[in-house]
Amino acid sequence: MLRIIFATGNQGKMREIRAIMGDCGAEIISMKEAGLDLAIEENGTTFEENALIKARAVADALLARNKEQACVVMADDSGLEIDCLNGEPGVYSARYLGEETPFDLKSRDLLSRMADVPEEKRGARFVCAIAAVFPDGEAVTTSGIVEGRIGHELRGDNGFGYDPIFYLPEYGRTAAELSDEEKNQISHRSRALGLMKEELKKRIS
Ligand code: IMP
Repeated sequence: MLRIIFATGNQGKMREIRAIMGDCGAEIISMKEAGLDLAIEENGTTFEENALIKARAVADALLARNKEQACVVMADDSGLEIDCLNGEPGVYSARYLGEETPFDLKSRDLLSRMADVPEEKRGARFVCAIAAVFPDGEAVTTSGIVEGRIGHELRGDNGFGYDPIFYLPEYGRTAAELSDEEKNQISHRSRALGLMKEELKKRIS
């Protein structure tokens, strides 16, 4: 059976990946479950570049172990782009104001920087890139986007990260006010994963 190793330690992401890719006929395991614990420097300038850096680092580490069955290595990178802040925090979303700073403080800081920004200029999007490195060394990336607007206050307790300030006009709620099921249906990550599933099917059918 084909093995997919996903370069993340995040169990929430693993659940979403298994829910979307579970019917591919592959065994899906995390990097940790594969016995790898790597600190990878994400020094790319785009989400695609960072996803590829992570996937390649894990693929190289597995190759170095030299006793692996053929596997596909996948990784993701994601973040929030705000139009009136020239795309900030972008690839620095997790590191904005420091990795350890709680997300409500990061979110409040972004809101205060946008205090005078009118409604029509508050456009933003969540972006996710997925990279896959196949056993022959070939690499593919896919991406997914969800468009929304930055609100004026934090609202909602679901989700994570910047969800409480990310307002979805068609739902009349923030991403943190959606259920997991609702968010998974429209999320940038699920869209990128859906496209990656198509790429995978082309290669393993
Ligand atoms: P990554 O885990 O390196 O991809 O970092 C993603 C960062 O982007 C997270 O720490 C969050 O700050 C932000 N982010 C990505 N996706 C979402 C989302 O769906 N909701 C809220 N924040 C997100």
